Amino acid sequence: MSDTPYVFKFGNGANSVDPRSRDKTVVGGKGANLAEMASIGLPVPAGLTISTEFCAVYNSNGKQFDDSLRAGVADGVKHIEEATGRIFGDTANPLLVSVRSGARVSMPGMMDTVLNLGLNDQTVQGLADGSGNLRFAWDSYRRFIQMYSDVVLGLEHHLFEEALEQAKEDNGFHEDTQLEAEHWQALVTVYKQIVQDELGRPFPQDVHEQLWGAIGAVFDSWESERAKVYRRLNDIPGGWGTAVNVQAMVFGNMGDTSATGVAFTRDPATGEKAYYGEWLVNAQGEDVVAGIRTPQYLTKQARERAGAKAPSMEEAMPQAYGELANVFEVLEKHYKDMQDIEFTVERNQLFMLQTRSGKRTAKAALKIAVEMVQEGLIDEKEAILRVDPMALDQLLHPALDPKAERDNLGKGLPASPGAANGIIALDADTAQQWAERGENVILVRVETSPEDIAGMHAARGVLTARGGMTSHAAVVARGMGRPCVSGMGTISIDNRSRTLRFGNRELKEGDVITIDGSTGDVFAGAVPTIEPELGDDFATLMGWADKHRRMKVRTNAETPEDCRMARVFGAEGIGLCRTEHMFFDAERIPYVRQMILAEDEAGRRSALAHLLPAQREDFRSIFKIMAGLPATIRLLDPPLHEFLPHSDAEFADLSETVGIGVETLKRRAGELHEFNPMLGHRGCRLAITFPEIYEMQARAIFEAACEVATESGEAIVPEVMIPLVATKREVEILKGLIDRTAAKVFEEKGKTLDYLVGTMIELPRAALMAGEIAEEARFFSFGTNDLTQTTLGISRDDAARFLGAYVDQGIYPRDPFVSLDIEGVGQLVSLAAERGRKTRPDIKLGICGEHGGDPASIAFCEATGLDYVSASPFRVPIARLAAAQAAIKG
Ligand code: ADP
Ligand code: MG
Ligand code: MG
Repeated sequence: MSDTPYVFKFGNGANSVDPRSRDKTVVGGKGANLAEMASIGLPVPAGLTISTEFCAVYNSNGKQFDDSLRAGVADGVKHIEEATGRIFGDTANPLLVSVRSGARVSMPGMMDTVLNLGLNDQTVQGLADGSGNLRFAWDSYRRFIQMYSDVVLGLEHHLFEEALEQAKEDNGFHEDTQLEAEHWQALVTVYKQIVQDELGRPFPQDVHEQLWGAIGAVFDSWESERAKVYRRLNDIPGGWGTAVNVQAMVFGNMGDTSATGVAFTRDPATGEKAYYGEWLVNAQGEDVVAGIRTPQYLTKQARERAGAKAPSMEEAMPQAYGELANVFEVLEKHYKDMQDIEFTVERNQLFMLQTRSGKRTAKAALKIAVEMVQEGLIDEKEAILRVDPMALDQLLHPALDPKAERDNLGKGLPASPGAANGIIALDADTAQQWAERGENVILVRVETSPEDIAGMHAARGVLTARGGMTSHAAVVARGMGRPCVSGMGTISIDNRSRTLRFGNRELKEGDVITIDGSTGDVFAGAVPTIEPELGDDFATLMGWADKHRRMKVRTNAETPEDCRMARVFGAEGIGLCRTEHMFFDAERIPYVRQMILAEDEAGRRSALAHLLPAQREDFRSIFKIMAGLPATIRLLDPPLHEFLPHSDAEFADLSETVGIGVETLKRRAGELHEFNPMLGHRGCRLAITFPEIYEMQARAIFEAACEVATESGEAIVPEVMIPLVATKREVEILKGLIDRTAAKVFEEKGKTLDYLVGTMIELPRAALMAGEIAEEARFFSFGTNDLTQTTLGISRDDAARFLGAYVDQGIYPRDPFVSLDIEGVGQLVSLAAERGRKTRPDIKLGICGEHGGDPASIAFCEATGLDYVSASPFRVPIARLAAAQAAIKG
């Protein structure tokens, strides 16, 4: 044996010694949990796991298996043989195994499991004799050839499906269950011939060749395209690798006392404390999720609620069900979390084949976290860590407007909550293309598979004709937070004419539909949606989060509606109020244009005099809504030509309003053209040249603040923010202007207020000079959008063409405009924070870029000791939770 043991055994008492055998990073999630379940005495078929570490060795060593690995696997197979009393490859008493992939986190895109490995023309007879069930043996063999040929040999599975259809037709059968032993046996001959014809060599009869072929295919699948796409979408490092699990088969297809199923220890859609699952009698492995037969409910209650007839497992197999329920309790106590499990019953005996922490909707995540605290299973901090902040987004998802008219096309299963409408796309590529064009797309498929993931991600919702609540579509959509309706049996899709029927209604690709993933309903056309209500569990968990976080959470908002919404979501102030948005108002834009196009200061001042009352009104309403909470108002930032007219009609309009000829206006506009507006005449540079603009804005702020303070009695402390500063001198000059304006207003109003003048830090020079700038500035707000643009030298508006390739090739781990480039831009933030604090220990520090709503960036802000993060209103709950998680993790 080599120094690094790459092979671990589990089951039959083999796994208690080495903690690495239960470590996900070593043996993958599936292997770790199988070993863990075995170690707490649950019935797990024995097996071995080749560690994830070997995946890298294999893929870098020319895809070779060395002698030590072969010896390790041989030893593991012996362990399984001892546990089962069967021998791998033995003709009389053959051991069959499954070969299963398993990365650290469950990952669609990896090789599909191969079941019944170890069958060949001889061992199939041994299996028949041993089980006394000829049909079962040949059924298992044909399943094995089909699966192995598909996933290991790379043959198209439709070749085999067509042969099966043919066999049924020849015999006049409609269901697989009508085929007897001799039919399966005949089909095996056909299947083997297909392999011979396609590959020019026979289906492998040597069981060791079968085993090593499957092991190699698992490791190869780590580098497959679909695995890479999934890793990219989910930020999974390529270096993790996958493990391979080889496990003794147990058979759910041995007749009416056998079954297979999947279950959750609580309802993954609602979080209700009720067992939830699906099962099938006389079935194997993926039959439940594949959507070939319609699965039955696990519990009597669920069956009755759904009004279904086919018996639940609780009713049909009370003894095995009782054992299963007991296992659920053991698992929840052990893992202290809701579990998603796979099980098989072989002749009334229960076996556990998988457990993992179950994917759940945001609603369920909240309910489960809150109830587990009440049940004493976990504490508040743990509950906070249990909920993915990004998942809260789902709760804020729209629902259908109950008053809206609707044209119902039918009903499927409510597989992932939320409502969405969009145009029908019949395949993942089309969905992606149309979404890139800015369309809202609903992906409609018979069923989805891992190749569809990018299309599902691009779509606003997913609808499938087949598959249950635990189908691929359902599980993936829930994870992505996309609404999904699955198993809508009345749909038939014609891929050639790109049309589809819902019962007797015909629609075509590109038509608009609406899906409601909370009820399973599907409608023709776009049904309007309404905002959801946040429930008690949300309030409880957010209350805990607020108690445990250190940073404040503010919002980026400028309209009264946004400010109100943000307060409902728990914002504790405004971190960024962009005043330019107020300039675009239809009534104001002519004066803005007049100001910009004025030839001199007097002309500008007369236009600004028109804008002053409007700006003051804006600030009054914001101060009123924020009721004493801090509000940072940024003075005008964008290049002036952004406000200029574009079309001839707009120029003509303006000419009429301001009484200047069209030609003169066009010439002035031409003069304002800039080659590089992002680095041009914008930000505080506008006020260095035209101070009267900031003077008007400062006046509007202070007048509004004085008035609202007097009317409401609240202490209003405006924070006036100067954008795009690079030097201390800029701040000095403009702060002088703001202070003089404040003094004038206070004298006129006979009232004095405290206020702060501070700056954005959004240029590398400002970050470097932060120590000096802090002599003038009372606060810094990190404008990480511009700071990212200027540090990386990448224009955000032009990045789309190449940034994808940068992320794909790992040049940046994630889109740096979505998640802060902590390594690079983060250095400037830390350094500026440190230098600023050195000059002014009580300087207020915050972040107002998009990153203020991104959990990873928020964790960085916590570590840097910022006072607050500021996010768009809908991201405020995400930021509150992420800030609490960051504080708890320390
Ligand atoms: P996935 O990760 O896609 O769920 P799994 O390896 O868990 O793949 O297996 C696919 C199906 O095969 C599951 O239903 C599982 O329970 C079943 N299965 C896997 N190994 C065995 C086994 N040793 N005996 C019986 N069924 C198995
Ligand atoms: Mg699978
Ligand atoms: Mg599984």
